[in-house]
Amino acid sequence: MSAPSEDSVRREVRAWLAENWSPDLGLAEWRRRLVASGWGCPAWPEAWYGRGLSPGLAAVAEEEMRAVGAVGVAQFGVRLLAAATLLEHGSDAQKKMLPRILTGEDTWCQLFSEPGSGSDLAGLSTRATADDQGWIVNGQKVWTTSAQHADYGMLLARTDWDLPKHRGLSYFVLDMRQPGVEVRPLRQMNGYASFNEVFITDARVRTPMLVGKVGDGWKVALTTLAHERRLADRMRSWGRLERGQGRIYDELQAEHTTVMEPYKWYPQRAGRVDLLIDRARSTGRIGDAVVRQEIAKALMLERATEWTAQRARAALALGQPPGPEGSLGKLAASHIARAAARAHASISAADSMLAGEDGPEQGLIAEILISVPACSIAGGTDEIQRNIIAERVLGMPKEPGGDADIPFRDVRRNSTQAP
Ligand SMILES: Cc1cc2nc3c(=O)[nH]c(=O)nc-3n(C[C@H](O)[C@H](O)[C@H](O)COP(=O)(O)OP(=O)(O)OC[C@H]3O[C@@H](n4cnc5c(N)ncnc54)[C@H](O)[C@@H]3O)c2cc1C
Repeated sequence: MSAPSEDSVRREVRAWLAENWSPDLGLAEWRRRLVASGWGCPAWPEAWYGRGLSPGLAAVAEEEMRAVGAVGVAQFGVRLLAAATLLEHGSDAQKKMLPRILTGEDTWCQLFSEPGSGSDLAGLSTRATADDQGWIVNGQKVWTTSAQHADYGMLLARTDWDLPKHRGLSYFVLDMRQPGVEVRPLRQMNGYASFNEVFITDARVRTPMLVGKVGDGWKVALTTLAHERRLADRMRSWGRLERGQGRIYDELQAEHTTVMEPYKWYPQRAGRVDLLIDRARSTGRIGDAVVRQEIAKALMLERATEWTAQRARAALALGQPPGPEGSLGKLAASHIARAAARAHASISAADSMLAGEDGPEQGLIAEILISVPACSIAGGTDEIQRNIIAERVLGMPKEPGGDADIPFRDVRRNSTQAP
């Protein structure tokens, strides 16, 4: 069969929308129709809720949806990582969980980081012990966004202590709504509580909820992490919602508010370059040579990074695998945030330390200064990004003295959990 043309895709989507789209439908009901039709994820395989279209033709279908204001599948938050991972590595039974992710009926979280393993994620020590019905899980996770209302968690746990650290891990779907899973919020220094600690005590994972094979955990987790980097890029467009009159838009707005709650301060964490020139003007500091120079540095860095991101998006649209731009972009984002924070501090001087309503921009500048450090830690520290760039992009030798080849049981670690 010949590949569909742009015209045929446009015609088909338009005809389907004319039959099915109505803003008076409930959000979940509409999305169930959309998922069943394959137009919700047109680039996914036909066997799994998609149409098997190229990224270019999928974009055409999305354009037609936007033209009539039709709401898309649930596309905010950690659930995207779960969907991408299950699509690539899930069993048929697990892939049947995809529709409820796409309709937004199920919420997910990512159970990777632990108090003793952040940069060294493969050194984690939450254990999953096999029994005749599946696994019993014990351990602690941290920095878990959305855990407080998640239905399921993507869990990375150790199933073999005698293999080297990367090979003894397995990947599971953990039912978060079971006894033995306790979620406690973490309060940050900027006042928000966007993350959680998750304490797992004798929680159960049934056999069909192992993703991939036993020992494949690291390989599966790499898929999740690759999509996490892309998610950071997509978050820029999350503020843009389909809007209009009708029940569906109200429900979409409510969903957006809940899912975006943990990310409210993320624009501040990125440094708010967009405010710099207006702030310099309104405070009368625009004529100061040092201030001008700080602003110029932040703007130049931001512009150059945006062009790199555009190159990455173009490569993705051509169906090419993720390149070095992801690691470069992450490190660049930290530099931009710090440059912007410096420029804000030089504009507002001591006033920038005033938090709350009395501070500049109702405390927003102070919020920027205490949120920016998160940028260099979350999602991989700057030092780790530099290691990745050195080894994978520049081809430099790996760090000597690694522990990647010895049994995990013999690895020195700072975790309190014994094998
Ligand atoms: C705001 C925020 C949000 C987060 N969100 C999430 C989330 O949603 N999900 C999640 O799973 N995790 C999340 N994290 C956790 C984050 O991924 C870890 O904090 C991060 O990977 C660092 O790990 P760590 O805190 O254990 O520090 P460590 O790994 O102990 O690092 C301590 C210091 O040593 C340096 N270092 C470590 N190893 C090396 C090395 N090989 N070479 C050079 N320097 C090194 C680090 O750069 C750092 O400066 C978040 C963290 C923050 C602050």
